[in-house]
Amino acid sequence: PVDRLPEIQEARLKLPVLAEEQVIMEAVRENPCVVLCGQTGSGKTTQMPQFLYEAGYASGGGIIGITEPRRVAAVSMSHRVAMEMNLPPQVVSYQIRYEGNVTSDTKIKFMTDGVLLKEIQKDFLLQHYSVVIIDEAHERSVYTDILIGLLSRIVPLRNKKGLPMKLIIMSATLRVEDFTENTKLFPSPPPVIKVDARQFPVSVHFNKRTPLDDYTGEIFHKTCKIHRMLPPGGILVFLTGQAEVHTGDEDRLAEMGDYEYNGSDLELDDDGEDNDEKADPSIPLYVLPLYSLLAPEQQAMVFRPPPPGTRLCVVATNVAETSLTIPGVKYVVDCGRVKKRHYDRVTGVSSFLVSWTSQASANQRAGRAGRTEPGHCYRLYSSAVFGDFSEFSEAEITRRPVEDLLLQMKDLNIDKVVNFPFPTAPSAEALMAAEQLLVSLGALKEPPRTARVQDMKRAKICCPITPLGRAMASFPVAPRYAKMLALGKQQDCLPYVIAVVAAMTVREIFEDLERPAASEEESSKLAENKARLMQMRRVWAGQGPSLQLGDLMVLMGAVGACEYAGCTPNFCEQNGLRYKAMLEIRRLRGQLTNAVNAVCSEVGVFVDSKMAPPTENQTPLLDDTVFIHPSSALFKKPPEFVVYQEVMETTKMYMRVVSAVESEWIPQLLPQYCHFGPPLETPTPWLCPSTGTIKCLSTSTFYRVAWQLPAVERAYPEGID
Ligand code: ADP
Ligand code: MG
Repeated sequence: PVDRLPEIQEARLKLPVLAEEQVIMEAVRENPCVVLCGQTGSGKTTQMPQFLYEAGYASGGGIIGITEPRRVAAVSMSHRVAMEMNLPPQVVSYQIRYEGNVTSDTKIKFMTDGVLLKEIQKDFLLQHYSVVIIDEAHERSVYTDILIGLLSRIVPLRNKKGLPMKLIIMSATLRVEDFTENTKLFPSPPPVIKVDARQFPVSVHFNKRTPLDDYTGEIFHKTCKIHRMLPPGGILVFLTGQAEVHTGDEDRLAEMGDYEYNGSDLELDDDGEDNDEKADPSIPLYVLPLYSLLAPEQQAMVFRPPPPGTRLCVVATNVAETSLTIPGVKYVVDCGRVKKRHYDRVTGVSSFLVSWTSQASANQRAGRAGRTEPGHCYRLYSSAVFGDFSEFSEAEITRRPVEDLLLQMKDLNIDKVVNFPFPTAPSAEALMAAEQLLVSLGALKEPPRTARVQDMKRAKICCPITPLGRAMASFPVAPRYAKMLALGKQQDCLPYVIAVVAAMTVREIFEDLERPAASEEESSKLAENKARLMQMRRVWAGQGPSLQLGDLMVLMGAVGACEYAGCTPNFCEQNGLRYKAMLEIRRLRGQLTNAVNAVCSEVGVFVDSKMAPPTENQTPLLDDTVFIHPSSALFKKPPEFVVYQEVMETTKMYMRVVSAVESEWIPQLLPQYCHFGPPLETPTPWLCPSTGTIKCLSTSTFYRVAWQLPAVERAYPEGID
């Protein structure tokens, strides 16, 4: 029996899911899998684990597991449920990637979806759990989707073994067809239970104009105006990321007393309906930030009532859209944008980009204003722009390159990925292409020599993962780059590889030299500048037409030089580099360094702005000969040194895109343009750590680059694993 405080019991009774407890629990008893849909705030996340606990699901040896796509929700919900149930954190616990408070007494365990995925790797049957709840399934995070696919197989297996297990899928929207009408996933469709939540009307106000750049500034003005003109009630502001939440606007907002705003161009039509209560701009605004990486104590502050005589204003990222319900919100200010992981189709490396959100999620945001009384939502974009939003956010799995996903799944020992019951499947062609790529990278075992191409295509051959593949799976970058990192460790040149992977993910690092000039004066200045910068690039690229070094070398030189100079705006301007791009490269370099350290802490890599050039030991020449193709311009008269972009195997190992480099040019290149250290005395073959495929080599022996060589993979086990 659970011993709750009277005020908690009272608050629970107001939650819509409480009214449905019996219906829900009966469905759970009678079905292996149940889908529960209910508006944000209806009590799904906080109450469902309690229903299950009280029905005895945690008393037969197994525990109740609940997954969240966001860390902030896992932590904060475990605290809340522990508090509601009057149980200690040793019993209601959480586990996120790098921290947790799970004990052997844990009965309810909140975790991120990634954590449960890793647990499946260790025990496919998840024998520790009697129930698994997949929360926020509407978000369609790729791990959530894969978990649902895996659990659709695990649950029947457990039942067959006489170790019954339940699966509960929870969604804040009614759009659950991908789970219920997918017979590959669930041959007999799971029952869907809908919980009707009380929702008060929310008046939606669109902007006439849509600010494109300074929307944080406009958010600030709008919020101030709401505070000055509209009756009491909390304000919830949606921005896209932690950085925006902290642009300083929160401090500016908190200093409302000094604020004067001449906002004639802002529409704030309070339709006269709230005039029984008056705004009081003299009271302070109590401003709190809310985002995923915020410390838990600070997160918890948004749930407490604001100090008496203040108005609550929470400046939040998307976490407040469906994962966390903040009490007392009457006004929502929505920037209409969302920061999403975006995958570069060329490099496959992921980054976060801000884009318009979907209509469904804009409506979720608006709904946050009508939880306790009628509210208002101010959208900082026009209704026409809203009309152009996509209806729903698409499943992450369809936006993501599959070679990455495939590698993750192979790491889970799912060999036949084409047969996997995805809620929304990537195309079979995409999966097969990914399989072939991973084989050629050495992440998957080669199919037997007797295997026919048609069989590969028909997915009859499925290649298991190699130890190299396992190491690659642990890096947060696309497989090609993960391989560079894995082998970079072996070859003892990780910092270079990290720098290069970072550099290659940022495009347009050079200023546009063709930019039209505003005046004649500027035009002549531009022309002069252009000549100088072109000269610079020619130097970077090589001397004369026959000495064309790849653009990647130019890029590396620029990055090395810029970092050496301290990455100042001044240096960038003088050298025609985009300052923002260089900052981005610097940031990514730091991020990747942390990721590598997290995977293999013993390497202890760090970002060194004065990185010395690689030594000869770091650029070993391996005896695997490659050839200049007869079609190459250099075939007839092989130069002493060449660079090449990649090797293609036809009748022989042929280099593609071969360029000549003069030996005396190589030592110049390093100190002057890469600033990797003092000038070199003698020409050294230099491993340009680009795609791992460019290198200056002597023609007497054309060698393949270290990290392409199968022999290196075979030597792998003493590597990262
Ligand atoms: P759902 O999962 O359906 O969106 P929740 O279970 O998260 O709903 O929330 C139910 C109620 O519990 C909401 O009214 C919310 O404000 C409240 N609540 C959740 N967490 C806390 C907390 N840490 N402190 C106070 N109230 C909370
Ligand atoms: Mg919830």
